[in-house]
Amino acid sequence: MDSSSSYSNAQFLWWKSIWRIEILGKVKIFLRRTCNHWLPTLTSLAGKGVVTNRICPVCKSKFETTVHALWRCPGLKSVCKSCAFMKGLLCHDEIHFHDFFQGCLNRLRAD
Ligand SMILES: [Zn+2]
Repeated sequence: MDSSSSYSNAQFLWWKSIWRIEILGKVKIFLRRTCNHWLPTLTSLAGKGVVTNRICPVCKSKFETTVHALWRCPGLKSVCKSCAFMKGLLCHDEIHFHDFFQGCLNRLRAD
């Protein structure tokens, strides 16, 4: 088995575990779209030539990526502060949302 097929198998098993979680189907679809960078962030739209400005319209300081829009934007601080679950989760601007979400799952399983 080469590395690409083992990676695909790992991805398949990961998604299979996600589909088994008892959450709304639309949340699972949102996760799939998020992990695959299918959300229309300004960075993804700029990559397709739809827009030229990738700067987040909320904080006006960083590129609007998936992680930034859903987690890292300073405009979300009040939301993040109100949720104890979010404190201490590893997240930075370069993290892939898939890895961030796996960190969330690991924390849920540890609690
Ligand atoms: Zn922002």
